[in-house]
Amino acid sequence: MNYKNKTKICTSCESNQAFFARSFSGELLCKNCFCKSIESKVKSTISKYKMFNYDDKIALALSGGKDSVNLLHILSRIQKNQKKSSIIAIIIDEGIQNYRDEALDIAISNCKDLGIDYKITSFKEIYGFTLDEIMLRRDNDKKQSSCAICGILRRKAINYSARFVKANKIVTAHTLDDEIQTILLNIFNGDLTRLIKGSPVSQVSNSCFVQRVKPFCEILEKESTLYAYVKKIRFQNHPCPYSSEAMRNDVRFILNYMEEKHAGTKFTIFRTIEKIRPSLEQTKRKNRFIECKICGEASSFGICKACEILSGLN
Ligand code: SF4
Ligand SMILES: [Zn+2]
Ligand SMILES: [Zn+2]
Repeated sequence: MNYKNKTKICTSCESNQAFFARSFSGELLCKNCFCKSIESKVKSTISKYKMFNYDDKIALALSGGKDSVNLLHILSRIQKNQKKSSIIAIIIDEGIQNYRDEALDIAISNCKDLGIDYKITSFKEIYGFTLDEIMLRRDNDKKQSSCAICGILRRKAINYSARFVKANKIVTAHTLDDEIQTILLNIFNGDLTRLIKGSPVSQVSNSCFVQRVKPFCEILEKESTLYAYVKKIRFQNHPCPYSSEAMRNDVRFILNYMEEKHAGTKFTIFRTIEKIRPSLEQTKRKNRFIECKICGEASSFGICKACEILSGLN
């Protein structure tokens, strides 16, 4: 028996030729079994964390990047069997020149292909400024990266849009890589509150916040990329012009290096935090929310983070 040839056969269907080796599990997968494995992982994550109810109105945050577009395709198929549930895509236009227009176009064309409704909301419309304008006017002394600012404003815009369309659930396409990068960033920044809050299903402690769930939290980013290519799904490929500023890039580099040398490291970090999160929650005083004095949204300190950024612009 030729051992070399045998190793190229898919270990799942045992008939097709393998094209992908999943190093952390030792599986060799053909294209068909690889795609099925991603879809069934998403389903098992949804059921493990009890992410959905049969009658949810789901608002999916769609950026046009590979992860959110893949999730749109997978979720639209899963939800087809749920007659009382519906999906609407929430598309946020931050106002980033030479970048966001292409992403919007791709996001919309995917929605049209799948027959999914969408709502576009822009930073300009909600905050009065595009992200490009905010970056020109930001207070450089505060040393907040563009992604930290954009992240706060995006979260608020997504929540605002979800409430506007009367959704009771927000779905984001954070992958396993996104999740553990955030865990490490929160540890590096000493931010225990955010470390606790980042679970795959958010706790709803206030009627202002729509509950968030992350069905891709156990999918590796590189496998999400591969899924899009195999399925020939159209997504935006070139990076945001502000992304190089982020500390996240350094963390991504460290984690990829570790995973390369020690397959399974990313899953180990994720599972470890999942195990200790409940104990961490008990050590932390529950956040009490009050209305932001400027915009009326929920805030911990009287003025929400978004209004703090906007009031600090030059
Ligand atoms: S890379 Fe950063 S600035 Fe660009 S869209 Fe993402 S969060 Fe916003
Ligand atoms: Zn196979
Ligand atoms: Zn506010």
